[in-house]
Amino acid sequence: MAQRWWDEGLPFKCTQCGNCCRVEGYVWVEDEDIQKLAKYLEIQPEQFEKQYVRQVGHKRSLIEKPNYECIFWDKGCSVYPARPPQCKTFPFWPQNLQSLETWLEVVEECPGAGIGPVYSREEITVLLQDRGETNKKES
Ligand code: SF4
Repeated sequence: MAQRWWDEGLPFKCTQCGNCCRVEGYVWVEDEDIQKLAKYLEIQPEQFEKQYVRQVGHKRSLIEKPNYECIFWDKGCSVYPARPPQCKTFPFWPQNLQSLETWLEVVEECPGAGIGPVYSREEITVLLQDRGETNKKES
Protein backbone atom coordinates (compact mmCIF):
# COMPACT_ATOMS: atom_id res chain seq x y z
CA MET A 1 0.00 0.00 0.00
CA ALA A 2 1.22 3.51 -0.78
CA GLN A 3 2.61 5.46 2.13
CA ARG A 4 0.57 8.32 3.50
CA TRP A 5 1.72 11.15 5.70
CA TRP A 6 -0.89 10.02 8.25
CA ASP A 7 0.22 6.37 8.36
CA GLU A 8 0.94 6.62 12.08
CA GLY A 9 -2.64 7.71 12.70
CA LEU A 10 -4.22 11.01 13.75
CA PRO A 11 -5.86 12.06 17.02
CA PHE A 12 -9.39 13.37 17.13
CA LYS A 13 -12.07 13.89 19.72
CA CYS A 14 -15.12 16.03 18.99
CA THR A 15 -15.61 18.76 21.61
CA GLN A 16 -19.14 19.46 20.31
CA CYS A 17 -18.20 23.08 19.62
CA GLY A 18 -20.32 23.11 16.45
CA ASN A 19 -17.80 25.01 14.31
CA CYS A 20 -18.18 22.51 11.49
CA CYS A 21 -21.99 22.83 11.58
CA ARG A 22 -21.98 26.61 11.47
CA VAL A 23 -20.03 27.33 8.35
CA GLU A 24 -21.05 27.93 4.75
CA GLY A 25 -20.87 24.75 2.71
CA TYR A 26 -22.68 21.69 1.56
CA VAL A 27 -23.93 18.66 3.42
CA TRP A 28 -24.38 16.12 0.67
CA VAL A 29 -27.26 13.69 0.93
CA GLU A 30 -28.42 10.74 -1.11
CA ASP A 31 -31.73 8.89 -1.13
CA GLU A 32 -30.69 6.64 1.73
CA ASP A 33 -29.72 9.63 3.91
CA ILE A 34 -32.95 11.46 3.10
CA GLN A 35 -34.97 8.38 4.04
CA LYS A 36 -33.13 8.06 7.34
CA LEU A 37 -33.52 11.73 8.21
CA ALA A 38 -37.20 11.77 7.22
CA LYS A 39 -37.87 8.70 9.34
CA TYR A 40 -36.12 10.34 12.28
CA LEU A 41 -38.30 13.44 11.89
CA GLU A 42 -41.37 11.28 11.29
CA ILE A 43 -42.19 12.83 7.94
CA GLN A 44 -42.29 11.46 4.39
CA PRO A 45 -39.03 11.53 2.39
CA GLU A 46 -40.75 13.64 -0.29
CA GLN A 47 -41.69 16.24 2.29
CA PHE A 48 -38.21 16.18 3.77
CA GLU A 49 -36.69 16.77 0.36
CA LYS A 50 -39.05 19.65 -0.38
CA GLN A 51 -38.40 21.29 2.96
CA TYR A 52 -34.72 20.67 3.67
CA VAL A 53 -32.87 19.75 0.48
CA ARG A 54 -31.47 21.83 -2.38
CA GLN A 55 -30.21 20.71 -5.74
CA VAL A 56 -26.58 21.61 -6.47
CA GLY A 57 -25.74 20.55 -10.02
CA HIS A 58 -26.39 16.81 -10.13
CA LYS A 59 -26.01 16.48 -6.35
CA ARG A 60 -28.23 17.31 -3.39
CA SER A 61 -27.35 19.12 -0.19
CA LEU A 62 -29.16 20.03 3.01
CA ILE A 63 -30.18 23.67 3.06
CA GLU A 64 -28.60 26.22 5.39
CA LYS A 65 -30.01 29.02 7.49
CA PRO A 66 -29.40 32.56 6.20
CA ASN A 67 -26.42 32.80 8.60
CA TYR A 68 -25.00 29.59 7.04
CA GLU A 69 -25.63 27.39 10.06
CA CYS A 70 -26.81 23.92 9.15
CA ILE A 71 -30.60 23.89 9.03
CA PHE A 72 -30.52 21.27 11.80
CA TRP A 73 -28.20 23.18 14.13
CA ASP A 74 -30.01 24.10 17.34
CA LYS A 75 -27.36 24.57 20.01
CA GLY A 76 -26.31 21.11 18.89
CA CYS A 77 -27.25 18.75 16.10
CA SER A 78 -31.01 18.18 16.26
CA VAL A 79 -30.83 15.10 14.01
CA TYR A 80 -27.65 13.61 15.46
CA PRO A 81 -28.69 9.92 15.38
CA ALA A 82 -29.65 10.28 11.71
CA ARG A 83 -26.89 12.66 10.58
CA PRO A 84 -25.48 12.07 7.09
CA PRO A 85 -22.18 10.21 6.47
CA GLN A 86 -20.32 13.45 5.80
CA CYS A 87 -21.06 14.60 9.36
CA LYS A 88 -20.15 11.21 10.83
CA THR A 89 -16.74 11.13 9.18
CA PHE A 90 -15.55 14.73 9.67
CA PRO A 91 -12.70 15.70 9.85
CA PHE A 92 -11.41 12.62 8.01
CA TRP A 93 -12.34 13.84 4.54
CA PRO A 94 -10.05 13.28 1.52
CA GLN A 95 -9.55 17.01 0.95
CA ASN A 96 -8.57 17.49 4.61
CA LEU A 97 -5.97 14.72 4.54
CA GLN A 98 -4.38 15.66 1.24
CA SER A 99 -1.32 16.97 3.05
CA LEU A 100 -0.12 17.95 6.49
CA GLU A 101 -0.84 21.54 5.49
CA THR A 102 -4.51 20.85 4.71
CA TRP A 103 -4.83 18.96 8.01
CA LEU A 104 -3.30 21.88 9.91
CA GLU A 105 -5.91 24.16 8.35
CA VAL A 106 -8.57 21.86 9.80
CA VAL A 107 -6.84 21.90 13.19
CA GLU A 108 -7.17 25.70 13.19
CA GLU A 109 -10.96 25.49 12.83
CA CYS A 110 -11.72 22.26 14.68
CA PRO A 111 -10.58 22.12 18.30
CA GLY A 112 -11.09 18.35 18.29
CA ALA A 113 -8.58 17.68 15.52
CA GLY A 114 -5.24 16.96 17.12
CA ILE A 115 -6.54 15.84 20.53
CA GLY A 116 -8.02 12.61 21.84
CA PRO A 117 -7.67 9.01 20.75
CA VAL A 118 -5.53 8.22 17.74
CA TYR A 119 -7.38 6.89 14.70
CA SER A 120 -5.25 4.30 12.97
CA ARG A 121 -4.45 4.21 9.28
CA GLU A 122 -7.03 1.43 8.87
CA GLU A 123 -9.73 3.37 10.72
CA ILE A 124 -8.99 6.55 8.77
CA THR A 125 -9.10 4.60 5.50
CA VAL A 126 -12.66 3.47 6.27
CA LEU A 127 -13.75 7.00 7.23
CA LEU A 128 -12.24 8.40 4.03
CA GLN A 129 -14.61 6.13 2.12
CA ASP A 130 -17.57 7.85 3.78
CA ARG A 131 -18.19 4.81 5.97
CA GLY A 132 -18.20 4.39 9.74
CA GLU A 133 -18.14 7.24 12.22
CA THR A 134 -15.76 9.07 14.53
CA ASN A 135 -16.90 7.61 17.82
CA LYS A 136 -13.64 6.18 19.08
CA LYS A 137 -13.26 6.19 22.85
CA GLU A 138 -10.06 7.01 24.74
CA SER A 139 -8.13 3.83 25.49
S1 SF4 B 1 -15.46 21.58 14.67
FE1 SF4 B 1 -14.52 19.68 15.40
S2 SF4 B 1 -14.75 19.71 17.63
FE2 SF4 B 1 -16.17 21.24 16.78
S3 SF4 B 1 -18.14 20.10 16.51
FE3 SF4 B 1 -17.03 19.98 14.56
S4 SF4 B 1 -15.90 18.04 14.72
FE4 SF4 B 1 -16.51 18.58 16.82
